[in-house]
Amino acid sequence: MNNPEIVVIGAGVFGLSTSYNLSLNGYEVLLIDKSFPASEASGKAMGRLDPILGGVGSTLEKANSLGRPDDQKELSEESFKLHLNNHKDLIKSSMIDYDFQSIPTLQIIHSENELTQLIDLIPEWNQKGFNSKIITDQNEFIDSRISNNHIGLVLINGVVFLDSFKFCQSLFKTCEISGVKFENFDVTTFSNTKNGIEIRNKDHIIRPKKVVISTGPWTNFLTEQIGVSIDIKPLKGEMLKVEPFNEPLEFHLHGKVSICQKLDNLLWIGATKSNYTFNSKKTKTAQDELIHLASEIIPEIINNKIVDHSVCFRPMTPDAMPAIGPIDAGKNIWIASGGGGWGILHSFNIGQEITRMIKKNTDISRFSGINVKRLIYN
Ligand SMILES: Cc1cc2nc3c(=O)[nH]c(=O)nc-3n(C[C@H](O)[C@H](O)[C@H](O)COP(=O)(O)OP(=O)(O)OC[C@H]3O[C@@H](n4cnc5c(N)ncnc54)[C@H](O)[C@@H]3O)c2cc1C
Repeated sequence: MNNPEIVVIGAGVFGLSTSYNLSLNGYEVLLIDKSFPASEASGKAMGRLDPILGGVGSTLEKANSLGRPDDQKELSEESFKLHLNNHKDLIKSSMIDYDFQSIPTLQIIHSENELTQLIDLIPEWNQKGFNSKIITDQNEFIDSRISNNHIGLVLINGVVFLDSFKFCQSLFKTCEISGVKFENFDVTTFSNTKNGIEIRNKDHIIRPKKVVISTGPWTNFLTEQIGVSIDIKPLKGEMLKVEPFNEPLEFHLHGKVSICQKLDNLLWIGATKSNYTFNSKKTKTAQDELIHLASEIIPEIINNKIVDHSVCFRPMTPDAMPAIGPIDAGKNIWIASGGGGWGILHSFNIGQEITRMIKKNTDISRFSGINVKRLIYN
């Protein structure tokens, strides 16, 4: 396929969801990746689908709040519903079970300020179906392994976890079923001239009519070749998996880190945030930090053997919102990136939204605050 209608570059969760939706809408799609699908953050993420608690990135003010910032609420809530509505069909059609399961969260309350915030947030969460309650009575039995080093806990029901690698495999399988072609292709040269778009490396050349760049934190490596810089940077995250306790952990514990026992039976501890860098080295500093913060929540975790230590990169925007839309006047070159710390959660929605925009040839999104235009700085 040397001249396909649309090439999607990058088979992470955004590229997979985009390819799937484009092909469902009748486009002939070639998906390419320098490695295998979900070889980067999309296959290594914690896999938490949580539209109510705040998350990584964003301004200091937003990052310090326990609840979702207002600008993320609509996108995150709709994205969460898409996961709830789609997961059975996706698993059935791909025949790949991606461990979709609801795990109650216990949010650790560290300060009076957090308690005040939670008292305000809980009625809103309850109204949205995330049945939550504050537990300040130390005698109320939750899990005796949890340290008393806090002023209370909030029990939040309804948050979902999945295995992000299996989820992407499932998306990839449905892409194949719906006719998406896949090629291993490391795009080293990208150009857009009056003769059209060219995607190259030393062995191949492809000339598609349109292209969607969904290369996550590597977005600028391609767009800068056509003179466009976008404020998307790699926010490095390290995670650990440790052996489980004899008694399973039934809650996702969320404080300064997350601790969660997933269906692989391991305890996942995540995640660090370190400077904008592509350095993929696993660091002892991150390992020590994760174990230290986890042991503030469950002291005895310090004895559990580490079985895995991973590194991956969030495609981070300054406002922690995705970045989608066209970047050239002819609307032939599109971006689907900026998943930040919530790319798995937002993936179905981003794939649908960019497909709608491409189909209508519009740069106007249904969601405010996600247009890539806001991040182009030259
Ligand atoms: C530690 C950690 C934990 C996380 N936990 C969660 C979570 O619990 N819930 C959640 O919703 N999100 C989570 N995320 C965020 C989520 O993982 C990311 O937002 C999402 O995976 C980004 O997807 P992507 O498709 O944009 O990018 P990526 O997954 O990075 O995919 C980009 C793809 O592009 C390919 N590529 C790059 N350059 C080229 C090129 N030149 N030619 C060809 N191919 C190329 C790469 O090989 C890669 O496959 C987490 C992230 C981290 C780092």
